[in-house]
Amino acid sequence: MSKTKIMCCSVCKKDDISWQVWADELNNVNSSPEDKFVYCDNCEEETIATLKKPVIRVYFETPNHSSCEEVATFTEEKYFDACYRQLEEVAKQEGYILTESFSELEDE
Ligand SMILES: [Zn+2]
Repeated sequence: MSKTKIMCCSVCKKDDISWQVWADELNNVNSSPEDKFVYCDNCEEETIATLKKPVIRVYFETPNHSSCEEVATFTEEKYFDACYRQLEEVAKQEGYILTESFSELEDE
């Protein structure tokens, strides 16, 4: 499943930003979010990462959680609310469970 970038540069609003982190030989990241250095490729300097618009992603998940497919992405909670019932209906018909994730809750 591909992930959508949810953070962007607070200066130029582009998402070509990288976090400098400490990692061990197995690629386990050891730093805490506070001491991360963020670099913007577009501004070519250090920046502060800021959240893009909140993103709500909706998934159809099989009851045993073996597979999960992203079916919709919303950037406005009101649209999500408006579509939720229909999505839930479709999920039920197809035998899936409807799950959603809010980007503010960082699910990585
Ligand atoms: Zn920038």
